[in-house]
Amino acid sequence: MPERNVYLDNAATTPLDPVVLAEMMPYFREIFGNASSQHAFGRRAVAAIDLARDRVANVLGAGIGEVYFTSGGTESDNWAIRGVAKANAKKGKHLITSAVEHHAVLSTMRSLEKEGYEVTYLPVDKEGRVSVEDAVRAMRDDTILVSVMLANNEVGTIQPIREIALEARARGILMHTDAVQAIGLLPVKVDDLSVDLLSLSGHKFYGPKGIGVLYIRKGVRIDKLLTGGAQERTMRGGTYNTPAIVGLGKAIEMADAERESNVDYLRSLRDRFLSEVFAKIEDVHLNGASEDQRLANNANLSFGFLSGETLLQILDRMGVAASAGSACSSGTLEASHVLQAMSVPEDRARGAVRFSFGKCNSDEDVDHAVDALVKAVDRARQGKNLFLQESADKTEV
Ligand code: PLP
Repeated sequence: MPERNVYLDNAATTPLDPVVLAEMMPYFREIFGNASSQHAFGRRAVAAIDLARDRVANVLGAGIGEVYFTSGGTESDNWAIRGVAKANAKKGKHLITSAVEHHAVLSTMRSLEKEGYEVTYLPVDKEGRVSVEDAVRAMRDDTILVSVMLANNEVGTIQPIREIALEARARGILMHTDAVQAIGLLPVKVDDLSVDLLSLSGHKFYGPKGIGVLYIRKGVRIDKLLTGGAQERTMRGGTYNTPAIVGLGKAIEMADAERESNVDYLRSLRDRFLSEVFAKIEDVHLNGASEDQRLANNANLSFGFLSGETLLQILDRMGVAASAGSACSSGTLEASHVLQAMSVPEDRARGAVRFSFGKCNSDEDVDHAVDALVKAVDRARQGKNLFLQESADKTEV
């Protein structure tokens, strides 16, 4: 057993804040009523859901009638894209997205393509940024939706959402943004961003898993995703997950209130980590954007002549948890689609490891992780590394 476990995978998920858990607890047992029931038990659940909706609306600067609870970021992305595509098919069947979106967006786009829709995938520059000019050039008379994420989950690059959204609005095109990675790290106000739809996920900001939000601006034409009961103004049937909704509401309120101090703290941890790594390890490259266009918690590093997977396995055995590319695609040996879109050379892309810091990390965690990383890189570079072997075989031919 490692002497210390250090969790540096906060972009994959965050631990539940104990304050959030305390707020959720009564809704598992004492206040267990179905929020759709017409009695006091039900009414108490309704009151809790109303409060959570109010908290989300406040943080987003939205109306309470524009906040819809879902099962998470994946569902919100699916609903936004599929729902708008279906409801607006008469107007047009063209959608725009970027090459670096989460698979919840990309797979939905691909499935729509099979149903006769056309999708433009915007390229990104070396830092992972979409250009506003490219987005404008892609907009057509039959374009119904632009979906570009606010911040990337692998490299933390922040996209020029407001600029793209204003251009879309001027042409009568709806704008969706996946803000799953941004809550608690960036200000997320729907009017400032000028977006019509926005996705959130509770477990990325110290809330529970399996709960999310889709913000839908009043007047947006969108189909229902789940048909069933009359929940969520008939747009999304299914019994309310009251404890999770309560947790998301508390978590988003806290994430917003603590945002500035958390960001300063996370940046100091991340920068301490980076300066130590660069001082102690040779041939390391930081993937992604410069400081002002990057989330404060993200460090995506490539280690020359090493596979990210190998390094992660060694780190894991040493008690340090990080991630190769995105959590959803790790376990496969293919280089991340995000790094590929950024034209990161294949060997560097395969060597990428994402370290993402959270408010529960400390300076000691960082120091421990750096020590482990120095040893892990050393061990992997000296040892018989599969990827190294594989590339040597290839270059010999
Ligand atoms: N979008 C982004 C940018 C994400 O990082 C994630 C989770 O990794 C999701 C969507 C999916 O969210 P969820 O895990 O709530 O389905």
